[in-house]
Order: sequence, then C-alpha cells, then structure tokens
Amino acid sequence: MFSYRHAFHAGNHADVLKHITLIATLRHLMLKPAALTLVDTHAGAGLYRLDGDWSTKSGEATDGIVKLMAALRPKDGSVPASGIAAALDDYLTVVAKFNPAADGDGATSVRQRVYPGSPFIIQHLMRAASRDRLKLFELHPADSKTLSTHIARLRSGREIAVLRQDGFEALRALLPPPPSASGSRRAMVLMDPSYEIKSDYAKVGACMQESLRRFPNGTYLVWYPIIARAEAHDLPRRLRTLSKQAARGWLHASLNIGQSPELAPRSDRQQGGGLSASGVFVINPPHTLAASLQAALPVLLDILGRGRGKAQSLEYAPA
Ligand code: SAM
Repeated sequence: MFSYRHAFHAGNHADVLKHITLIATLRHLMLKPAALTLVDTHAGAGLYRLDGDWSTKSGEATDGIVKLMAALRPKDGSVPASGIAAALDDYLTVVAKFNPAADGDGATSVRQRVYPGSPFIIQHLMRAASRDRLKLFELHPADSKTLSTHIARLRSGREIAVLRQDGFEALRALLPPPPSASGSRRAMVLMDPSYEIKSDYAKVGACMQESLRRFPNGTYLVWYPIIARAEAHDLPRRLRTLSKQAARGWLHASLNIGQSPELAPRSDRQQGGGLSASGVFVINPPHTLAASLQAALPVLLDILGRGRGKAQSLEYAPA
C-alpha cells in the first residue's frame, strides 16, 4: 500500500483519455446553472512537474500529453492537417492554461512543464456563481499534503475540501448531494483508484452499487487499466450490469496505444510504459459525450498509437 505515486504517470495516455472524458462530461453538466457537487474519490497530488525527476524517469508523458501537444499545438504555430476534435482541443486548452508563460496570448506554441491532475482540472472548470462544491479525497500522506498545499494557494474557501480519508468509504456520506438553490440535486463523481491492491476492483463495483442506490441520478466516471488480470477484465462488465439493473444509461470507451517496441509487456498500471491500454466507464453520461469521444478517439490513436495492438473502442447505451 502507498507505493503508487501518480507523479510517475501524470500526462500519460491513460490520463489523456480520462481527462478528455472528464472535461467533456463537466462541460455538458455545467450548461445547467444549478449547483453541482463534484467528488474526486482518489485525487492524487493535484499538480505535477513534467520536467521533474519522476516524470522524466518514467517518460510516460512523452507518449501522452507531450506527443499530443507537439502534434496538435506545434511550436511553429502551423495548423495540424487532420483538424482537432472539439473535446481534444478543449482538453489541450485547459492543460495549456497551467503553462501560462508559454501559452502567451493564446498562441499555439506551448512548452509543457506542468500537468494538472483531476482536482485542478475540475477546479478550473467549476463555477463560483453556481456554488459548485468540490470534495477531494487522497489517502497517501505525502500526496495528500501536497494537494492541500496546492489547494490552499487558491484561497478558495469552503467550496473545495481536501480530506485524507478513504474515498470509497467517504463517498457514501456525500450521496445524495445537498439540493441546489433551485431544489435539484446534482453530482459528478470521478473514481480513479490506483488499483495497487487487487481488492480495489471489487471496491469500485461495491461502491458504485451503493452509490447508485443512494443517488441513481448522479454521473459517475470510473477509470480502470486494461491488463491481463481477471478483475480488470470483469470490472466494465460489472459496471454495465449495475447500470442496467438501475436502468441507467452508460458509456464505455477504451484506448490502447499498442506495445512499445522497447518495453516488455507488464501487468499493472504502476509499471510505467508497460501499461498500454485503459478504459473509462461513465454511468449517466451526458447525451453529447459519445459523439465527442467518437471524434476524439481516432485522432488520439493516430497520434499516440505506437505499435502492435493499438485500438480504440466506444460503446454507448442511452438510458
Ligand atoms: N485522479 C487523479 C488524476 O486524475 O489526476 C489521479 C489519482 S491516482 C491514479 C490514485 C490516487 O489514489 C493515488 O494518489 C493514491 O495515493 C490514492 N489512493 C489510493 N487508495 C485510496 C483510497 N482508498 N482513498 C483515497 N485515495 C486513495
């Protein structure tokens, strides 16, 4: 426990898929003015240096955000021939905002030094006027402290809380969310465990079952690694079954960038370049999400695909 550090993986292909999905989901939910309760059950450290030791040692961002920026926001300002899917463009713009010195006045040239984790992506999008609330859970002592320090610098007040608690356990107490001024209850939950221990897969299933019972109308986004492990294989099936039982719509997207010729395949998320594929499963997805990802996934595969096995997939079952 606690050997997982997201700093090694920040900005890799799995973060790209997860964060594009997160942003596209939130953009749609935020079209309605009513307040949202936003929960990140496994938040990480919040901000990551891509020129720091951990990131450069793993090199994972090179096969993720760095490659994407180079292809779609080239330093010479040229316009990419393939065009940019809107969700992908939005994601790159959000990430570029965390690198302001290079972003200049919105010019296309971006030198990528900082990568925002999900807490800062959500914080960047949340609306003061709507009184959105963000709860961030992180158990790792060092990452929880780092996250608290980063969030404290925002001087955000009570709308953002960092809690060193078990996100699976804590979620229960937050659902159903409090009503907004208009009386509606709205929530988006990101569940992005490290899957450091095998039991995380079962915990995700149990937690989603309980969450759907408590608050069937919430939007739930689960990330998982696609690896040769029965539990990982079973997780999307379980989430599909839970969605069907609760009569909820769902969306399942995956991105496999293929095996790197230099790296032997390995069997879990933690082992860096060995992870070549991951998936996101969204329960109660916005009705626009499937079209957004359908446009973005082929471009991602085209740019990030690196060898044998590369593939992308998208399944969508509206409610
Ligand atoms: N969601 C982050 C993002 O997209 O930027 C990345 C999170 S990382 C994959 C998973 C994090 O969960 C790790 O920082 C780990 O320390 C933390 N963690 C592991 N078990 C946890 C638990 N039961 N509750 C809360 N945090 C946990």
